[in-house]
Amino acid sequence: MALPMSLPPFAAIVVAAGKGLRVGGDTPKQFSSWRGKPLIRHSVETLKGAGAEPLLVVIAPDALDHAEAALTGIAGVTFVIGGATRQDSVRAGLEALDAAVPDHVLIHDAARPDLPHSVIERLLAALAQHPGAIPVLPVVDSLALAGADGTMGGKAERAALRRVQTPQAFRFSAIITAHRAWTGTTDAGDDAQVLTASLGSVALVEGDERLKKITFAEDFVNIDTAPTFRIGQGFDVHRLEPGEELWLGGILIPHDKGLAGHSDADVALHAITDAVLGAVGEGDIGTHFPPSDPQWRGARSGQFLAHAVELARAAGYAVANVDLTLICEAPKIGPHRPAMRAEVARLMGLTETAVSIKATTTEKLGFTGRGEGIAAQAVVLVTRAL
Ligand code: MG
Repeated sequence: MALPMSLPPFAAIVVAAGKGLRVGGDTPKQFSSWRGKPLIRHSVETLKGAGAEPLLVVIAPDALDHAEAALTGIAGVTFVIGGATRQDSVRAGLEALDAAVPDHVLIHDAARPDLPHSVIERLLAALAQHPGAIPVLPVVDSLALAGADGTMGGKAERAALRRVQTPQAFRFSAIITAHRAWTGTTDAGDDAQVLTASLGSVALVEGDERLKKITFAEDFVNIDTAPTFRIGQGFDVHRLEPGEELWLGGILIPHDKGLAGHSDADVALHAITDAVLGAVGEGDIGTHFPPSDPQWRGARSGQFLAHAVELARAAGYAVANVDLTLICEAPKIGPHRPAMRAEVARLMGLTETAVSIKATTTEKLGFTGRGEGIAAQAVVLVTRAL
């Protein structure tokens, strides 16, 4: 990859004040996860990496918590409260930048996350000749004018038309002057229109299809690299010893031996916990509850499983179903299966139909066959929660 050329100093305003609830859910789309991180974070990181200073993010008055969470750990981001319209929000950002007196400013919409460095280069280079510059793409589809009666009303000439993207780049003094001088009674479509209204020339530079605006839920589902389904498997063994309690699937089973281990040694819940953790790539049960930690001595394993389900939820996944196989000669699992199934379902927040508990022997072969221990294996499917 070619080294990016060095850029002149520039400030940036990222507009994220829209309600943006079209993708569904309570979180405005600009703060929803897309390709593994909040939508807005993609372009803010790109602009920071390109040297934007200062970098302002314009948000709705009630969005500060969402915005801070989405951009946590990125230094030097200033939040500005926007207005009722996009134009009001940009104006608020420009006024907040006024004291910094930057030479150039890029104004970008948070809904366009995939911002190529090459577009930033072209925009800033064009400001040497023009007070404004915008990225554009040709129109590829044929165009039709819609008549009032819903029929085709005339011919539209696509050769002269361009699709306009953001960021839009401006000499700061020109764009803030144009915004302050705006006398239009309706909202300008974008900042380039504000500048041209005050007779500033706007260069058209080559845009990029990657800059496409994310609008509908389908964009999140189809483009997001996080898969809709993930699967995990878990396996565990504990030794059977006299004098120990036998916990299996979260219930205490009367037996002449019990399972030995640091916690309650519930081999069934350990296998399911590892399957959940495996499905979302969160390590294994020992990562989260190390046997070296005395606080887990004798601990009930249900809390391990509940924690794993919570981690999956935090990663955006809900458990769909569980299939567990216990491998032992004794005790007989059948009589305890309904209670185990109910308890596993309760611990995981599932209906019982989503939980399968099976058992087998190894025909007296191996350590399970000799009654020295119990083994368990589990498979868990998780689905992405929209
Ligand atoms: Mg274990």
